[in-house]
Amino acid sequence: MSELIVSGGPVFDGAELRDADAVGVRDGVIVAVGSRSDVRGALPHAEEVDAAGGLISPSFADAHVHLGLVALEGLDCSLDDAGSEQGCLDRVRAHAAALDDPAAWVRGGGWRAEWFAGGTPSRAALDAVVPDRPVLLLDSDRHGGWANSRAFALAGIDRTTADPPDGRIVRDADGAPQGTLREGAVDLVGRIAPQPAAAELAPGIRRAADHLLSLGITGWQEAALASFGSIPDFTDAYHAALAAGLRGRPTGAVWVPRDLTVDGVADFVSAVRERAQRGEAAGFATRTAKLMLDGIVESKTAALRDGYADGSTGLRYFDDDLVRAVIAQLNAAHIPVHVHAIGDAAVTQALDAFAAAGPAPSGVRNHIAHLQVVNPADVPRFAATGTTVNAQALWACRSDVMRTVTEPLLGPERSSWQFPFGSLWRSGAALAMGSDWPVSAPDPWQAIAVAVTRREAGQPDAEPLGADEALPLAVALAAYSRGSHTLIGDGTAGRLVVGAAADIAVADRDPFRTDVTEIAQTTTAWTVVAGEVVAGSAAGAAGTAASARACPACE
Ligand SMILES: [Zn+2]
Repeated sequence: MSELIVSGGPVFDGAELRDADAVGVRDGVIVAVGSRSDVRGALPHAEEVDAAGGLISPSFADAHVHLGLVALEGLDCSLDDAGSEQGCLDRVRAHAAALDDPAAWVRGGGWRAEWFAGGTPSRAALDAVVPDRPVLLLDSDRHGGWANSRAFALAGIDRTTADPPDGRIVRDADGAPQGTLREGAVDLVGRIAPQPAAAELAPGIRRAADHLLSLGITGWQEAALASFGSIPDFTDAYHAALAAGLRGRPTGAVWVPRDLTVDGVADFVSAVRERAQRGEAAGFATRTAKLMLDGIVESKTAALRDGYADGSTGLRYFDDDLVRAVIAQLNAAHIPVHVHAIGDAAVTQALDAFAAAGPAPSGVRNHIAHLQVVNPADVPRFAATGTTVNAQALWACRSDVMRTVTEPLLGPERSSWQFPFGSLWRSGAALAMGSDWPVSAPDPWQAIAVAVTRREAGQPDAEPLGADEALPLAVALAAYSRGSHTLIGDGTAGRLVVGAAADIAVADRDPFRTDVTEIAQTTTAWTVVAGEVVAGSAAGAAGTAASARACPACE
């Protein structure tokens, strides 16, 4: 029998602050919430974690994250924070020079459009540093690629190659590939690059999971399980990581392939069911499907009803008949759908399909992630269709890219429709949150700070992105903890109430008692999964229960 008490701070139960300063745990389940003396009386021999005045809350869950990509990039050439075109080229040159195999690919990711003239990095620049071996580098959003001439040649792409239906090859004046690839065009090169094995990726997935645990995140959803070109299906790597001791509650969403037809939906649904059964045995729940409907605003691939200034309307990966068929048949098989929708037309397409499918079976929670541009007419339809909002709140501020790229593309009216979390909450929609790491940082407190202020951290005087769309702190915290666990988990974690699974996060302060501008400085001090301390400030990120203060009577 293992017992633990977390005490010495205000207790947020997943909905509201309680008149309590302690939580008692036995064998992974919460058995008491109340005053420290009462909880100690119930558990006289328990070890104790001292919250030191910090907020005691349910752990967080990240409802949209890509640990597989984090692991992949650990093997590859990371361009995160390279800062400029020259910074990227220096790293690529150094990475290539360190490869032993003369035929090995240089792969990597993390470049940002704003580092390059016109936002389109060129193959000529890459050729100058790596002329002899193929190079393929994904952008920071993982929606674009940058390749050199050797990679284009190996892939057989030249001026005669047509754009794929789901992407674009950026071209020079003469039609030859310029170097930048958008969306599905990345796969034209990626499909010939070798995929790393599950055993190579598993240690990186475990390290990434440990990072989530250190941030107070004990559950998460791997947002796309599928093999895309050079990116492998991460399912086997998860199974290997779990077998090697990965901690936490991972779940995953199985990708709906872009070439799916209405006639093929029934077979796809059976395949998702079979995978779910295999995953359950390994501890990796994958009973969810991921339906990516459009791209992103910054590369004009998000689906906008009224289009962009140049007359284009973005990409729509599926027609309405397919979206309706796949959602209706997945839900009928008790499989929830996790939609990627950024543009207003994609959001409307998803909501139309959820409405057409009718109420989902009990316990099947559909959700739409990202929700960047939402037509106000669609806001009440989330609650009406029982669709959960899967918010990446860190994006809901007037960052440099927002002001210089996104707002000019959208114009003032649609810019004001972005990330309408306050309106969605007031309309009665269920809220969950996630980070999209490694696209953006995974610390929940950073995202909660933006959700509450609609400003970037450390910019208290910046103009907010739609001040009316700010969420109260309790609502944002509930969304990232209880809301996300409810959406993606098995229903046991996400609340600090008797009978719930003991997944607990302890903050380094009480953000309810600090100025809102300080919420972004909040960090997680302790994390508990199923009653076990897995991360704690007293022991560093890899802390264990040994660092918790032991019961004086037992010493
Ligand atoms: Zn994502």
